[in-house]
Amino acid sequence: MTEHFGDRPMLIGGEFVASDGGEWMDSINPATGEVHGRVPAGTVGDVGRAVAAAQRAQPEWAALHAFERGRLLRRLADAIRARSDVLPLEAADTGNTIASLAGDIVLAAGYIDFVAGLGMEIKGESVPATVENIHFTMREPYGVVGRIVPFNHPFLFAAAHLGAPLIAGNAVVLKSPDQSPLSASVMAEICAEILPPGLVNIVSGHGVVVGDAIVRHPAVPRIGFTGSVGTGMAIQRAAAETAVKHVSLELGGKNPMIAFPDADPEAIAEAAVNGMNFAWSGQSCGSTSRLLLHESLYDEVVERIRERVAAIRVGDPLDPASGMGPVNSEPHYRRILDIIASAKAQGATVINGGGRPAGDQFERGFWVEPTVFGDVTQDMRVAREEVFGPVLAVLKWRTADEAIAMANDLDLGLTAAVWTNDLKAAMRTVRALQSGLVWVNGTGRHYLGTGFSGWKNSGLGREECLDEVLSYTRVKAVHIIQ
Ligand code: NAP
Repeated sequence: MTEHFGDRPMLIGGEFVASDGGEWMDSINPATGEVHGRVPAGTVGDVGRAVAAAQRAQPEWAALHAFERGRLLRRLADAIRARSDVLPLEAADTGNTIASLAGDIVLAAGYIDFVAGLGMEIKGESVPATVENIHFTMREPYGVVGRIVPFNHPFLFAAAHLGAPLIAGNAVVLKSPDQSPLSASVMAEICAEILPPGLVNIVSGHGVVVGDAIVRHPAVPRIGFTGSVGTGMAIQRAAAETAVKHVSLELGGKNPMIAFPDADPEAIAEAAVNGMNFAWSGQSCGSTSRLLLHESLYDEVVERIRERVAAIRVGDPLDPASGMGPVNSEPHYRRILDIIASAKAQGATVINGGGRPAGDQFERGFWVEPTVFGDVTQDMRVAREEVFGPVLAVLKWRTADEAIAMANDLDLGLTAAVWTNDLKAAMRTVRALQSGLVWVNGTGRHYLGTGFSGWKNSGLGREECLDEVLSYTRVKAVHIIQ
């Protein structure tokens, strides 16, 4: 029996409100396919109200000392930590396993704590442009920032993505995702409790309505987007049709993990499976979804991966013993099955899974087995397209040049991993890889302060570091003429 989480209003101007159009959207539990809550179907008018509220709140916030903004952000982080009640709701709404979701709260709060300490780094430079005058730069907030987030970690993103714009002195209008919109309402409650009314506004609704209205709003000069490449490009176009705007994009990946012959087969198998993030059905931009194995390792590593993946317990995301739940939505489920079918048709070997799991509990909802394909070749869809699902593609290589060429042969470049104990081989590969982040003998983990960013079509701009905070400011040069 699906728990019902009720109607979850939006936060606009400090008030919990329905849409001015009066329409609501159902949210579906992906484990059962049943409706388990509703959010308002926001309108262009709702976005207008949210932007107006943000405009009213922002000047006073920007006028606070950076320490004071940081102090309130730390309170926000503590309040996030205290809301572990969001976990069942988030697990039910996304299909991510409850055991893994506790980490999202820790990450979100940790990120806000991190940026809360960066307020004094929002500074300019003194430049000796002339001997007699004073020349310096200063940084100022944009005003109202639009943040649009995807479905895979909606609470983590709704929380963490507020930090950088807020510490920089901006107000925010955030759009929750259509597919898993419920947990943003918990973030709305936290914001309403701690922050001045209107400083953060959370609007639900369809991307092409609410997201587009935020992007096109003339009083929103700065957009921070996380989502798919196609939507990112649509946002760039829409923004450019309206005004000259600063758009940053965190987009998809098809992330290679290259294993050299000297690497330990067990460590590679473990890292490849962990890096796939099966706990949230592979629905992570950074998942190491292409494993490029030296041919000498292939048979042994593939067998070890098969054992590990076959042992993943697929089941109710609310059961702490589950290692993987359903995928997020029906359209997404159909797309994943389509790529699985294409891999089979193109001659890949099924190492594990490859369909819907059998059993009564999987008859409803959007379930896909943890799937591994071997004998994948570079021309196959499963080797080239982001699946954003529980599907790992394993490819073989003979020379390091061949492996690097395979890794770089896509228009995506988010993360990559290199496994070897040969420092020269590692560094040569790191230099050659076209991606914004490379792990050597690691996968998955983000390191705050070092930044996260995509190359090529995987993105524009950097997050999780000081650059992100500064990107929510504009620079003004000042010349004091003596
Ligand atoms: P998506 O379809 O691009 O949607 C992302 C957000 O954009 C949603 O809130 C969506 O609203 C909204 N949106 C859709 N069309 C829009 C438009 N025309 N204008 C403005 N906003 C619009 O992505 P998704 O399927 O939710 O998420 C999966 C993708 O996100 C994957 O490609 C993944 O790699 C990427 N991702 C990247 C990162 C990173 O840090 N690089 C992190 C997480 C995920 P609706 O939900 O209402 O359609």
